[in-house]
Amino acid sequence: MPAGTADDTRLYEVACAQLDRAAAVIDLDPDQYTRLIEPRRSLVVSLPVRMDTGELVNFTGFRVQHTLTMGPTKGGLRFVPDLSLAQCGALAMFMTWKCALLALPFGGAKGGVRCDPAQLSTGEMERITRRYAAEIEPIIGPEQDIPAPDLGTGEREMAWFYDTYSHAVGHAEPACVTGKPQALGGTPGRKEATGLGVVFVLEAALEREGKVPAGQRVAIQGFGNVGAVVAAELHARGAQVVAVSDIGGAVAAPEGIDVPALAGWVREHGSVAGFPGAAAIERDALLEVDCDVLVPAAREGQITAANAPRLRCRLVVEAANGPTTPEADAILAERGIALLPDVLASGGGVTVSYFEWVQGHQKYVWTAEEIRERLRSQLRDAHSRVVEASGQLGVDQRTAALCLAVRRVGEAAQLRAVFP
Ligand code: GLU
Repeated sequence: MPAGTADDTRLYEVACAQLDRAAAVIDLDPDQYTRLIEPRRSLVVSLPVRMDTGELVNFTGFRVQHTLTMGPTKGGLRFVPDLSLAQCGALAMFMTWKCALLALPFGGAKGGVRCDPAQLSTGEMERITRRYAAEIEPIIGPEQDIPAPDLGTGEREMAWFYDTYSHAVGHAEPACVTGKPQALGGTPGRKEATGLGVVFVLEAALEREGKVPAGQRVAIQGFGNVGAVVAAELHARGAQVVAVSDIGGAVAAPEGIDVPALAGWVREHGSVAGFPGAAAIERDALLEVDCDVLVPAAREGQITAANAPRLRCRLVVEAANGPTTPEADAILAERGIALLPDVLASGGGVTVSYFEWVQGHQKYVWTAEEIRERLRSQLRDAHSRVVEASGQLGVDQRTAALCLAVRRVGEAAQLRAVFP
C-alpha cells in the first residue's frame, strides 16, 4: 500500500493532539480515552480498474471508521490524488466530534480513492466508484456505515454507489448513502447544506455582536460546493465578497465581487481565474487579503504558523475540515482573531445527510423549507452550546466544541462498557 505523505501524518497527529487537549480540560477517564484514541476499523482495498485505453490499473481505496459506539458511522468519500490511511484516520476522528457536537446518532468515518478526477473520464470514474463500493460493501450499510460526498465526489458518484450497493443486497436501499440526486431519494438542500450551514453559524456569531452579514467584507478560499454557496448566500444577504480563490487562481475586488456573475464565469471556464470583474491576485495571497471574515473552504492545513501573523481579518470561519494548524491557532488567539471551528461551522453537510438518512428509512420526504429550518435551528443550538461551554471552561471555541463532543462520546462508551 502506498504510504501517506508527511502532511497526512501531521494531520493525524493534530487529530490526536486535539483529543489530548480536550481530555485534559474535561479530565477524561483514562478508559474512555483509550476507547477514543484509535480508529476502530480501517480497510484498505486495491481496485483493479480497466481504463479507457484498455490498460488495467490498480487504484487504492480506504475506509476508516473511528468509533462504533454512537450508532452507524458517517462521513464522506474523497477522490483526491494524495489520499492516505492517515488522512482518512484523522478526518474520521473529526467526523466523530462533528456528529457528537451536533447530537447526530453517528460515529465518524472517512474514506475514498486515491485518484485525480480531473484526469479521468466519466466511464473511468464510474468503474472506480462501483469497484470501490463493491470492495467496501462488507463494512457499510444503512445500519453500519453511510458514506456521503466529500472532495472530488458529488451526486453522480453517490448515485453509482447507491446502485452498486443495491445490486449487492438485492433491493433498492436508499439509506445506504447520502448526497444522492433527489430523483433517487436525495433530500432537497443537501447539495447546499455545508455552505448554508457555514452562513447560519456565522449569522449566529455576528448576532451576538449586534451585527448582520450585510456590510461584512468576506474573503473565501475555495469556490467549490462549499465556497460557492457561502459566497452566493452572503452576497444575497448584502455582504461584500472581496476575494475568492480556487485551484486555478484567485481574484479580488475591494468594493465587492458580483458573485452571480462570477458563478456564471466559473460554470463556463471552470475556474475563477480570468474573471473580468475583479483583479487577479496570487492564490496564496487570498488568505492575507484585508477583510472582516475569512472563510477557508478548501482543504486542511491552509492557515499555518507561516501565514497566520499576516492574516488581516477579525474572524475566521472554518468551512473546510482542519484548515488551521495548532501553531496557527495559537498565533490567531494571541492576535485576538476569533475563530468558528470546523466541527461546528462545517457541520451543515452531515446534518442534512442525517435528515436524508432518516427520510430514506421512513420512505417519507420532507420539504425544502423544513430541511432549511431544522438545519438552522440545530446549528444555532450547537453554536449556543459551544459559546456557553467556552465561557464555563475558560477555553477557546475549538477546544470547547471538542470538549462537548468528547464528553458525549466518552460517556456513551462508558455506559456501553467493554465487551467481553
Ligand atoms: N463530507 C462531509 C463532511 O466532511 C459530509 C459528510 C456526510 O454528510 O456524511 O462533513
